[in-house]
Amino acid sequence: MDPDAPMLDDDFLALCGERNRRFVEELRADEAKKLEAEALAEHRKKHPRIGVLAIQGNYAAHAAALVEAGAEPHEIRKAEELAHIDGLVLPGGESTTILKFLEKRDLFDALQEFCGTKPVFGTCAGAILLAREVRNPAQRSLGLLDAVVERNAYGRQIDSSIVTAPSSLGPEPLEMVFIRAPRILSVGPHVEILASRDGFPTLVRQGSILAATFHPELSGDRRVHKYFVELVSAST
Ligand code: GLN
Repeated sequence: MDPDAPMLDDDFLALCGERNRRFVEELRADEAKKLEAEALAEHRKKHPRIGVLAIQGNYAAHAAALVEAGAEPHEIRKAEELAHIDGLVLPGGESTTILKFLEKRDLFDALQEFCGTKPVFGTCAGAILLAREVRNPAQRSLGLLDAVVERNAYGRQIDSSIVTAPSSLGPEPLEMVFIRAPRILSVGPHVEILASRDGFPTLVRQGSILAATFHPELSGDRRVHKYFVELVSAST
C-alpha cells in the first residue's frame, strides 16, 4: 500500500459523514428557529399584547373587549410590566385616584415614556390623564394628547347617559355610554375627531394616541377596540 496515498479509509469517511450530518442538522435547527420566530412575530402582529392599567375601574371589561377585538390583554400594575406589551389601555374610573396611585407607585414617569413611543387608548378618566390640560378642577396629567378636558362636564342630573351618533368608524351609528364623563373643550391641529356629541369631540386620535370620553367597553359594538388593536398591530 502506498504510504503517501490520502487516508480515505473507512474511519476517515465515517468521520466526514458524521461531520456532514451534524452540519446539516445545525442548518435545519437554525432554519426551524427562524421559522418559529417569524411565526411568533406574525402571530403577535395579528394578536398584539395590550396592557390594561389594572388599578381601578372597568379594567376587566376592557380586557374582555380586547380579546373580542383579537388582542392578548395583560393587566399592568408595575412599571416593569410595561416592557412586555405593544400598547396600553388606560380605563375609566376616578382620575384623581388613578393619578395618586401612578405617583405613589412610580408609574407616572414610566407611563409618560411608554405612551410617548407606543400606542395608548384612554377612556373617560384615562382620557383625562392623557390630556394636555385638565379643568374643573385643574389637575396634573400626562400631557400627551393636545386637548383641553373638563371633568364631570355634564352635571349631576345627566351624569350618565347613552348617546348614539355617527362616527368615522363606519356607516353604523356608534353607541356611546357616558358615566360622569369629561368633555373635550378643544383640540390641537394634529388631533383627528372620530366622533362627537353636541358638537364636542368624544373620540379623538392623535397619531398613536386614542382617547374616548365614553366607555366603549360597556357596549356590544367592538369597533372602537378593533380600531385601537389595528393601531397597535400597525406599530409592532
Ligand atoms: N368623573 C371621572 C373623573 O373625573 C371620570 C369618570 C369615568 O371614568 N367614568 O375622573
